[in-house]
Amino acid sequence: MKKIVILGGGTGGVVVATRLSKYLHQEIISEKVKIFLVDKNKNHEFRPSYLWVATGNKKSRRYIKTT
Ligand SMILES: Cc1cc2nc3c(=O)[nH]c(=O)nc-3n(C[C@H](O)[C@H](O)[C@H](O)COP(=O)(O)OP(=O)(O)OC[C@H]3O[C@@H](n4cnc5c(N)ncnc54)[C@H](O)[C@@H]3O)c2cc1C
Repeated sequence: MKKIVILGGGTGGVVVATRLSKYLHQEIISEKVKIFLVDKNKNHEFRPSYLWVATGNKKSRRYIKTT
């Protein structure tokens, strides 16, 4: 089995992991490939949305996902 490690689960890491998992879907299903997304934090924050948090329009918990 081939292992792909993506370092950093920010915006770029999540985009790469999503695209790779779609592109390698068959290989993942047949267990020829496994993708690991590694981050030092357990929370993923969608930072552009903090503009709405700063203006008081949205709560920050809406934009933070815990893995
Ligand atoms: C208020 C605000 C508004 C924004 N608006 C926009 C917008 O409208 N459009 C736009 O395109 N961009 C916007 N951005 C910028 C955008 O959020 C960043 O450009 C983007 O998040 C960068 O993605 P990245 O994956 O390179 O880095 P990050 O999203 O910062 O991800 C890096 C990840 O690596 C992890 N990491 C770092 N060091 C280590 C380590 N040693 N070991 C393990 N993990 C590690 C971090 O924990 C982090 O999760 C905005 C940013 C802010 C703050």
